Amino acid sequence: MNILNVGYRSTNCYLLEPDRIGLLIDVGWPGTLPVLRNVLKKKGVPFQKVNYLLITHYHPDHAGLAQELKDQGVRLIVVDSQISSIPAMARYMKPRDHYQEISLYGNIDLAAAESRKFLMGIGISGEIISTPGHSEDSVTLILDDGCAFTGDLTPPGHAVEESRSEVERSWEKLRAHKVKTIYPGHGPVRPFAQ
Ligand SMILES: [Zn+2]
Repeated sequence: MNILNVGYRSTNCYLLEPDRIGLLIDVGWPGTLPVLRNVLKKKGVPFQKVNYLLITHYHPDHAGLAQELKDQGVRLIVVDSQISSIPAMARYMKPRDHYQEISLYGNIDLAAAESRKFLMGIGISGEIISTPGHSEDSVTLILDDGCAFTGDLTPPGHAVEESRSEVERSWEKLRAHKVKTIYPGHGPVRPFAQ
């Protein structure tokens, strides 16, 4: 799988198979569409190659630009456990952010249990699972080759008391799925310490 990091301003945005699929995992802050376009240009990827967008969790540094991308024709994949977190995005924003509220319409609504079938249809072998801990709505895309896009799931051992057991359960799920490599929402790609 060809994985290109097109992130900026501390957020990693991973573009999977730009030539044949164009699935983007996470986007940046509201109003940063020109920045994203610039990064894509520098990496030699036409903007039109971005076909799908999956958000690991609905926080401003990962989803702020989602509606702006939808307005450009990108299809937003929303996992059922994430729907209720979308309206809350507006609460994180200040007027100067010029946040475009993400519409609940026009999305690809997906039950996590159906994700393998959907991904297969667009040419990806893998699945999306719920991995709460950093936030209720956090999901991880796991490719069958062992790559996992974990968003901001707190590294094991770093979780605060109140979410520790939930974070550990999420890592346990990743272990059970034989994850080998972590593609986090911030910072470098790293091997998954089993
Ligand atoms: Zn983040």
